[in-house]
Amino acid sequence: MSKQIMVGNVPVGGGAPVTIQSMCNTRTDDVNATVEQIRRLEAAGCDIVRVAVPDMAAAHAIGAIKERISIPLVADIHFDYKLALEAAAAGVDKIRINPGNIGSAERVQAVANACKGKNIPIRIGVNGGSLEKPILAKYGGVTAEALVESAFGHIELLNRFDFDDICVSLKSSSVPLTMAAYRLMSQRSDYPLHLGVTEAGTVEMGTLKSAIGIGGLLATGIGDTMRVSLSADPVEEIYAAKKILKAAGLRKDGPEMISCPTCGRTCIDLIGLANQVEQRLQGVDKPITVAVMGCVVNGPGEASSADVGLAGGKGEGVLFLKGRIVKKVPEDQLVDELFALIETL
Ligand code: SF4
Repeated sequence: MSKQIMVGNVPVGGGAPVTIQSMCNTRTDDVNATVEQIRRLEAAGCDIVRVAVPDMAAAHAIGAIKERISIPLVADIHFDYKLALEAAAAGVDKIRINPGNIGSAERVQAVANACKGKNIPIRIGVNGGSLEKPILAKYGGVTAEALVESAFGHIELLNRFDFDDICVSLKSSSVPLTMAAYRLMSQRSDYPLHLGVTEAGTVEMGTLKSAIGIGGLLATGIGDTMRVSLSADPVEEIYAAKKILKAAGLRKDGPEMISCPTCGRTCIDLIGLANQVEQRLQGVDKPITVAVMGCVVNGPGEASSADVGLAGGKGEGVLFLKGRIVKKVPEDQLVDELFALIETL
């Protein structure tokens, strides 16, 4: 089992539930926009949120952001150790920085001491796109061994200053390579692992890649926290992460939707209805199974294991509870009526 670190009040690793992370795409120094986005992420189910800290204005904004949110905040910093010191002073809950990229030993020591003094963990974020040249030369390119060796290089720099409050990510845009690197790291260390496939793509392809990469690792017991990277509104990352956790068998809370594949008996826009129901279920956290079925003849029976559902007829449909029809409803009101029924459960 991995070691546990605390990101603010949220445990990561050591058997704690796998947490969902995302990253704001607002300007961090635009405090209102960033807070608004974090609140949307939090409402969607985000456990830990990261912001980019590219300059001092962003580092200074951290305190004001922290005051107005309730989930832990992570500062994403490249190269400039002064930004890390400022973020730590501003009360950030975790820092993502690679100590090998910040210069002299004194600078690494300053960051290690600042973080240690405030119990701020550091995530070492190795990325296939920015591996050190000597490591690339040694392995002839980006390999799992190369990613892991890079991580240990950064870890040793922090360990030198007696700092070990660390978690690690080993991201690349190749799913098999990412998986191999995490597997190797989990064999060689017990640092908690932050899973992710980087530059995964748009919602559909990015979710698929992450489902295989992150979900595949989680299903074999590797990984402690995750971020699905999508070229989309970050709230989509949370929805995708929740689905991956469910598919990997790690979260059983919240609703599950089942829907029929449609057939020659379907006389209703079942696919449209299923999409609407799936969308609206994202705002429901009851542990219920909701069925969306194409016909009244077979639907309620086929979906009798569902708690609640709808079945389509011609221009109308029925709502059912545990396979028993409770109401006939015109097609255009089916979804609203279904959610009114869900409210009562
Ligand atoms: Fe066809 Fe009805 Fe079964 Fe859907 S529920 S697949 S419409 S028989």
